[in-house]
Amino acid sequence: MIPEVLDIAIKDVVSIDANQPLEEAVKIMAASNLRTIVIKDTSSYKILTTAQLIDFKLERVNYSTKLKDLKLKRVKEISKNLNLINLLNEINSTEEYMVVKDENNELAGILSYTDIINNIDPQILMEKQTLGNLILNYQAVFTYENSSALHAVKLIKNSGTDAVIIKDNDEKAVGIFTSKDFINLIHLDCDLTQSISKFMTSPIKTLNEHSTIAEALAFIRKQKFKRIIIENEQGFVTGIISQKELLRIVYNKWIELMKKEGNKISKTNEELIQTKSQLEEVAATDYLTKIYNRQKFESFLEYEINKLNRYDNGSFTLLLVDIDHFKRINDSYGHLKGDSVLKEFAKILKLSSRQSDVVARWGGEEFVVLLPHTGVEEAILVAEKLRSTVEIHDFKDNLELTCSIGISQFHKDDTKREVFNRADNALYKAKALGRNRIEIEVLTCNV
Ligand code: GH3
Ligand code: MG
Ligand code: MG
Repeated sequence: MIPEVLDIAIKDVVSIDANQPLEEAVKIMAASNLRTIVIKDTSSYKILTTAQLIDFKLERVNYSTKLKDLKLKRVKEISKNLNLINLLNEINSTEEYMVVKDENNELAGILSYTDIINNIDPQILMEKQTLGNLILNYQAVFTYENSSALHAVKLIKNSGTDAVIIKDNDEKAVGIFTSKDFINLIHLDCDLTQSISKFMTSPIKTLNEHSTIAEALAFIRKQKFKRIIIENEQGFVTGIISQKELLRIVYNKWIELMKKEGNKISKTNEELIQTKSQLEEVAATDYLTKIYNRQKFESFLEYEINKLNRYDNGSFTLLLVDIDHFKRINDSYGHLKGDSVLKEFAKILKLSSRQSDVVARWGGEEFVVLLPHTGVEEAILVAEKLRSTVEIHDFKDNLELTCSIGISQFHKDDTKREVFNRADNALYKAKALGRNRIEIEVLTCNV
């Protein structure tokens, strides 16, 4: 959202050859209503501003002097696509104007250092609701209608503004004198000792300081004015702001809004992503034991089988773990105790498995463990360790608990049903052979 050079440059520019005299530049400026003109020398650019014209007038410089012979500084040339921050890093002096060049190296506009600063200064981005607040930064400069034109010109030069408000003896604003009026005045070779009232524009239209920026913009559009003169409740002029300055404030406000909106959108996005992952976690978790549920386990199993069938000759083993006589626990101690035993049992399973193992509650008092890259012999050790851990674990209330485990191993082209059923059969055998024991699948293969 940082503006580029051309977004804020003055594009309405006129250039003149450096071999032309100063009076020709003034003539063009007066005719085209411009306060600056670009001077083209053989291989460089210079800029002539109203402020310099005032200096030349005060120093009585001859207006037939060639532009190239005036002491004007060469200005920096910049590309139109530079963004303002990059540009700011490039500028090492606060030279007032720069020339903007397009891709064909042609003159595309001019830009002042103040324009750049104003467009990125956070101060300017501040909330400013009414013109009344704004004019603190844009104070008007005044003189009286019977003072000389020279006095008004010096006021413009010394205050850095480009307009003076003219008041009558009752302090009421009666007219305005701008730097453009000054260019005309020089062009027509007027006598600056005459009263300013001869050269001012009169009467003036004002806007009350309680008007909003939106009303001010509508006013400018309707009246086709370049400036707004602001007055207070008592009808005294308190400030002046140009259309350009007003637009800049609106533009900066807009940038600020876009930034805020952008931040809001990315924040909402983050929240959505977080909510999504929370929901996914809930959907994959068993509500009681907080380990994976059967659905999630099946998706892990499927993933593992697909991987091995496609790319790998490896294998995994499956442990189907069932608590022995769990029904008796519910019957003797109640369902709540049953629940807490299931939670404790899940914890033991998690603690005795590796990071890469997948532990889940299959349903009821049955659990499954998937041991990736593990053969039967290693799985027997894991299962045996698990069985004995449960056997010696203190579940409180003098409760004695054991479990039975069925083991199966994945063989290429097994479906998940097949590998699971073999573990289930082994578990059934363990139960039949007296419980609190592990059994391995019986393979009916013809090797
Ligand atoms: P076996 O050794 O043959 O496995 O006997 P068992 O009693 O463990 O097996 P059975 O399938 O007969 O009974 C399982 C019991 O587990 C029955 C059911 O009420 C209980 N159960 C299942 N889910 C839960 C649960 O979430 N909480 C509690 N408290 N009990 C549960
Ligand atoms: Mg059981
Ligand atoms: Mg069971």
